[in-house]
Amino acid sequence: GSENSDLHVIFFPFFAKGHIIPCVDLARVFVSRGVRSTIVTTTLNAPLISRIIGKSQIALTTIKFPPPEETGLQEGCENSEAALAPDKLIKFMKATMLLQHPFEQMLQELHPDCVVADMFFPWATDSAAKFGIPRIVFHGLGFFPLCVSACIRTYKPQDKVSSYTEPFLVPNLPGEITVTKMQLPQIPRHDEVFSKLLDDCNESELKSFGVIANSFYELEPVYADHYSKELGRRAWSLGPVFLSKKDTEEKAIRGIEAGIEEHECLKWLETKKPDSVIYLCFGSMTTFPDAQLKEIAMGLEASNHPFIWVVSNKGSKKNEEEGDEKKLEWLPEGFEERMEGKGLIIRGWAPQVLILDHEAVGGFVTHCGWNSTLEGVCAGVPMVTWPMYAEQFYNAKFVRDIARIGVGVGVQTWVGMMGGEPVKKEVIEKAVKRVMEGEEAEEMRKRAKELAKKAREAVEEGGSSYSQFNSLIQDLRSRTH
Ligand code: UDP
Repeated sequence: GSENSDLHVIFFPFFAKGHIIPCVDLARVFVSRGVRSTIVTTTLNAPLISRIIGKSQIALTTIKFPPPEETGLQEGCENSEAALAPDKLIKFMKATMLLQHPFEQMLQELHPDCVVADMFFPWATDSAAKFGIPRIVFHGLGFFPLCVSACIRTYKPQDKVSSYTEPFLVPNLPGEITVTKMQLPQIPRHDEVFSKLLDDCNESELKSFGVIANSFYELEPVYADHYSKELGRRAWSLGPVFLSKKDTEEKAIRGIEAGIEEHECLKWLETKKPDSVIYLCFGSMTTFPDAQLKEIAMGLEASNHPFIWVVSNKGSKKNEEEGDEKKLEWLPEGFEERMEGKGLIIRGWAPQVLILDHEAVGGFVTHCGWNSTLEGVCAGVPMVTWPMYAEQFYNAKFVRDIARIGVGVGVQTWVGMMGGEPVKKEVIEKAVKRVMEGEEAEEMRKRAKELAKKAREAVEEGGSSYSQFNSLIQDLRSRTH
């Protein structure tokens, strides 16, 4: 309530939807507990964020992105979607470092009590320190990927292996977790600036006041404890933050150009039996080569389950080149006619949380971005894991081996990024059947539903995430006073 209204917290999300969405939801959590909350972003990102904030009492303030002559980027390139090509992405990451000065000017003006900044802004710890303000890091991740990342960055086991495909053990981590070099977030970029940035993130995290995890204690108690007790990082789990959008009306992420009308999508789902539909979506950044899209289509048809499949607006490389005008020409011959009423393809942004929460949806094929992973958990559906990049390989391991609510498609790296064979239709068919049919699916579904229940209890008054919020406020107060 109002007892926290003397506190003002600044949130500074990285410029990508997968970072902005949970950060706005986190700010909603703070607002719901009476804390004054302001999101800081750049001028061109402000309209999108403003629409995502919607009716919530979150303030928005802007700083200027450095101009093209300082960044080498073209005008208007202020978020990672605009900077998706590898050469641009590195320039973009460098450009964000130039935000330190305007960010500090903003701090001087607003003098908040705390800065919650994205992990990709390692310099924010120093900026906050200049004003005697605590900096908290928000990755938007849960404890398992946080632990794996921390151990990889601290002990660098990858430096001792030459093979990109041979699994090695992540040191100082419970559960004998192995990864390959090819699956590390820094590898596909092959860039020293990017690797150094990730190292800086790790260091600035250690110097920071602590880390907010988008998780709840009951989901991953071993790794929550390990993170603070063994890896020595102060952390508060306040999630799942997307549950802060309580009202069904508010559940979908509004303000992003939709690929379908919500009611149309829900009406379609109403015609389907409970747990009969498989939902496929690969996050906000992924594109597949046409050959892969075709295999997915054939796999879905063979699985014989109704489906909702989100194909990002970029959809196919070819469509992108041809200005998105071309139809879904990579689909197998006659696919759309045969799938009439049975499959729904959404081109563009889908109301993912509403879809997942619908009782007709019984499984989720996901790229395992942490937001999607948590949304799948909270919907109580088993998942087919299809990781691409960043921490997604870690998250996929979590879903399959730790929470035991999913099966993999066996990808070792991102097809679009490093070449490699597309996942074949038979593999996709089999994975879909494994999460939709039979005893194994039922057991996974049962475990997922239990976690979903615990997630909702965690954010309610007296729940673990609710209580963690109190400790965070206490920690902040004991520091500031
Ligand atoms: N999302 C959505 N509709 C879409 C694609 C994505 O609502 O068509 C949302 C999804 O629910 C999640 C976020 O966008 O909250 C994606 O974040 P995630 O961490 O899963 O993946 P990323 O996009 O960062 O790779």
